[in-house]
Amino acid sequence: MTKDWIDIQKDDKHVARERTKARELRQSSWWKSCIARGICHYCGKTFKSSELTMDHVIPVARGGKSVRSNVVPSCAKCNKSKRHFTPAEMILAEMEKAEKEKSQPAVEVNGNESC
Ligand SMILES: [Zn+2]
Repeated sequence: MTKDWIDIQKDDKHVARERTKARELRQSSWWKSCIARGICHYCGKTFKSSELTMDHVIPVARGGKSVRSNVVPSCAKCNKSKRHFTPAEMILAEMEKAEKEKSQPAVEVNGNESC
């Protein structure tokens, strides 16, 4: 059984490039109309446009891109609680928590692997 089938690379060039693109996207009229609606993508509550931040659904550090399909308006609270997790990992984390409460894990898992 191989343990490294998920290739997690920390690509600084990718991160730098996508951060620059994110800055440009923030200036776009598309994004401005997005935050003008004032709705946080995660909690669905309404905020002032100045209180919403651009959040990458798939984090840039995990290979996500600064494109319209990958950025959503997020309030500060949701942005903080999400951190660097992908949506799938947030679900997995919830499941893992529920699982741990039921029983002790048979195998200790080390490292950065998400599965
Ligand atoms: Zn929120």
